[in-house]
Amino acid sequence: MSFKKLELIEPILQALTAEGYTTPTPIQQQSIPLVLERRDLLGCAQTGTGKTAAFAIPILQILHQQKQRKPGIKALILTPTRELAIQIDESFAAYGKFTGIRHAVIFGGVSQLHQVNALKKGVDILVATPGRLLDLIGQGFVDLQRLEIFVLDEADRMLDMGFIHDVKRVITHLPSQRQTLFFSATMVPEIQKLANGLLTRPAKVEVTPPTSTVDKIEQTLYHVGKPDKPALLLHLLEEAHIPGALVFTRTKHGADKVVKILRRAHILAAAIHGNKGQTARQTALSDFKSGKLKVLVATDIAARGIDIDELTHVFNYDLPDVPETYIHRIGRTGRAGNAGVAIAFCSPEERIQLRDIEKMTSRNIPVVEEHPFPVIAGMVPPQPAPTPVKKKRMKFRYSNR
Ligand code: AMP
Repeated sequence: MSFKKLELIEPILQALTAEGYTTPTPIQQQSIPLVLERRDLLGCAQTGTGKTAAFAIPILQILHQQKQRKPGIKALILTPTRELAIQIDESFAAYGKFTGIRHAVIFGGVSQLHQVNALKKGVDILVATPGRLLDLIGQGFVDLQRLEIFVLDEADRMLDMGFIHDVKRVITHLPSQRQTLFFSATMVPEIQKLANGLLTRPAKVEVTPPTSTVDKIEQTLYHVGKPDKPALLLHLLEEAHIPGALVFTRTKHGADKVVKILRRAHILAAAIHGNKGQTARQTALSDFKSGKLKVLVATDIAARGIDIDELTHVFNYDLPDVPETYIHRIGRTGRAGNAGVAIAFCSPEERIQLRDIEKMTSRNIPVVEEHPFPVIAGMVPPQPAPTPVKKKRMKFRYSNR
């Protein structure tokens, strides 16, 4: 199946060729015709499936085909994080570069000045996070009365991050006559309820659950003592000639420590986590994407949804407490048909986390026995009793990221 078969217009086909896309991903194959038919859509898909293009391409086509495009915002994409908002806006820029359709992105944590200036120039497509959008609606800089298409992206994360009330408030500002596209990786009852209230006879599209995405990623595991993790990381980065890697640590402090060690070894690295300002995070991300940085060290919250084309290696420097997080982390590689390598470090203290991950994925991660920093027999500490560990882990999870 080619993009041409989806009856896309020439300016979009040209842009997709420039992006190097040849074949639509399954969610694109299913969604694009439905959106072009102006159907409401309920999409069960997560980042990494090509879902951004699945809604961005038909929206650009619909707006481009309007003979007389009236001024005003005609499509709104609501997404939970700044990083996702920027990436979605970049996708509209890439796929729409030959269409002349204007787009802008607004998100919190930075001055509103440039965003307001962009809005004043006039935009057809607005990408926004909920808080800043409500702010600018309140100040009279955003008017959604001309809206034709509303996309709610990552609805389940909106819920997780406590944005659901803001989302509901945004919805009260939208015209009731509109096309709605609703995307969520999971469909818990509260999300289903929200979708039911927003969509009219939606077409349903569902793609690859996360566990099968994981199948094409080459996973390996190194048993290593906690103090030897930095040396093992340096060893692997050098030995395997890894071009670029995303390294996950459990804590912000841990991320900074790894960066320090890498820099001392003259490896260009930066951290992205909640303590870094928005500009520092954005710079680190774009430097990594452009190849200026070899390693990006991240905590899970900061890395939510970050999308790096052709990322080949993901390190679980620390194993996550929540097994699903392992799937999310390694899903950053092996995207859109590319190969990916996921390397996990497991210290004797992390055997419980490893057991939980392997239980959830129903497979054992292949262990690399031969490496310079093996765990010495007898180092394994006694397994702690389950209840106190759980309490401690919860506290850790919420207070230290
Ligand atoms: P998304 O799920 O929207 O975050 O997209 C995941 C990644 O796949 C992004 O880096 C896109 O640039 C890339 N991508 C999306 N669609 C295609 C396609 N049809 N062919 C190749 N890469 C794609």
